[in-house]
Amino acid sequence: MIENKNNILQGLAAAPGISIAPVHLFTKEEIKVVAEDITDADEALKSLHQALEKSRKELRKVFDLAVDKLGTNRAAIFEAQLMILEDPILIEQIENRIRKELKSPEYIVDDEISKYQQLMRNSSESYLKERSHDIEDIKQRIVRNIKKRKWISRIKDDVNVVAPLLTPADSVLFSRVNVKGYVTDHGGLTSHAAIVARSLNIPAVVGLHDATTKIKEGDLLIVDGFHGRIIINPDESQISYYKERIQKLTVLDSELASLKEMPAQTIDGKKIKLLANLDLQDEIDLVMQNGAEGIGLVRTEQIFQEHDIFPEEEEQFKIYQGLSEKLFPNEVTIRTLDIGGDKVLPVDAQEPNPFLGWRGIRFLLDNKKLFKNQIRAILRASNHRNIKLMIPMISSIKEIRDSKNIIEECKTELRNENIQFDEDLKIGIMIEVPSAAVMARDYAEEVSFFSIGTNDLIQYLLAVDRGNDIISNLYQEFHPAVVRTLNHIITEGKKGGVEITMCGEMAADLIAVPLLIGLGLDAISVSPSAIPFLKRVIRNLDYSEAYKLADDCLKLKTEYEIKNKLNHFFESKLLDVTKNIFN
Ligand code: PEP
Ligand code: MG
Repeated sequence: MIENKNNILQGLAAAPGISIAPVHLFTKEEIKVVAEDITDADEALKSLHQALEKSRKELRKVFDLAVDKLGTNRAAIFEAQLMILEDPILIEQIENRIRKELKSPEYIVDDEISKYQQLMRNSSESYLKERSHDIEDIKQRIVRNIKKRKWISRIKDDVNVVAPLLTPADSVLFSRVNVKGYVTDHGGLTSHAAIVARSLNIPAVVGLHDATTKIKEGDLLIVDGFHGRIIINPDESQISYYKERIQKLTVLDSELASLKEMPAQTIDGKKIKLLANLDLQDEIDLVMQNGAEGIGLVRTEQIFQEHDIFPEEEEQFKIYQGLSEKLFPNEVTIRTLDIGGDKVLPVDAQEPNPFLGWRGIRFLLDNKKLFKNQIRAILRASNHRNIKLMIPMISSIKEIRDSKNIIEECKTELRNENIQFDEDLKIGIMIEVPSAAVMARDYAEEVSFFSIGTNDLIQYLLAVDRGNDIISNLYQEFHPAVVRTLNHIITEGKKGGVEITMCGEMAADLIAVPLLIGLGLDAISVSPSAIPFLKRVIRNLDYSEAYKLADDCLKLKTEYEIKNKLNHFFESKLLDVTKNIFN
């Protein structure tokens, strides 16, 4: 048995799967600049120039976005930063020093720009003194970009990455290197880094508090993403236990593969549309392999992370058209950019509460050009009539109407340009802010579909940060207020005639599925890899029993009672179905 040994740490089960691999510790040290000796100056110069180019691209975009909202003062800062990046004397000096001193490029960059800063600080002009501080950001940006590249190239072998915290962008890097598992001190289950790990099919355990102090580089580590457990330097019995589990999972995978062509339909004939969430472009093949009936959520901000920068209309058009063609005749729901929150804005807006700040539709309405670029690209890609457009973070009817007006504006432009698109393109909204849930009946009059985003809905309804491990016990998907709010959205939405999907992570929780179907959801959208599991549960479920279960849960007053009821239902009706998944 693996229990009761002191090499086991318990955290939150963020992405299922098991991995046994040596550790790569990704700590703050990686960001520290040290004067490392190098042997290959050409390679270092290449690294420098790539980082400069990347920083330039990032800054230009930031500059465009910053002017309107953050005022000319802030925009001027970015201009100053761009000037530094394009200063031939500075760059030549850095290049010469790399060649001559044979020290790491990040060290030389740091040293040279610090000298610049010192000169400014010593200046008698207060304007220059202030600017010296602003230059810190560009220095950090270049150093970070050099280091990131190095980090990626260093991870060659199969490793479990252990880090204090990872951003969604860090997780995207995992798709490019061979990371087997990941473990973090901080972060919650619905943080975007965890969601991306699920998309990538990388077992992950988050919220371990102090894993980075207990684990050393090169330790052997087992990551058990089913139970949120990690095992440091396992003994023989622990290794053989987990090897056996990996084998059982392989058998399970082939059992589930046989369901691919079967419908997601309950025993008594209720059909549920089973869709996939797409976080990374590479996942598209996984979507098809796993038998999804379409894509219920394209997180476009995530695709853009892969490109480092927001692509222009033409490039976006090609991406969306590619999705539409690959999925045809199945549907693809493209969500317009949802940046902000933990998906960091490309501009340094320094918000005290980013999750309550400039996020999703708020950012888009303030950056109309960017919004229109995306809408035009979506419209242009819609000729096969299988694309839907979805708007995130709606909290008022005005935001819906303003967005619809902008969509109309784009349609008029395209008509004038003789560009064809789907005139009946369906527009829907995410229901993920409590005000939208309350107003479901009215909002249903405005749009064609709802997609319930429980990741945010729960955090906003219960006032519990979705990414904070300290309070993760309060982030309760079975809180009675959550269950009743879901019921309200579904019943009121249906009165208004909209189709209702859920694309939050709650939909992928096997224990939650009978309740969600009992509440009357039409469709469910989850990470592609979760689809076969869900299909098996649905195909073994009786809708009339699920309906009764939901009805019973709506009367309960505590999370504990609801969880108990659902667990009991699962154990008595569906235990066989989850065999080999949890144990
Ligand atoms: C949600 O909030 O549930 C959702 C699906 O959107 P995201 O996780 O991207 O915020
Ligand atoms: Mg959301």
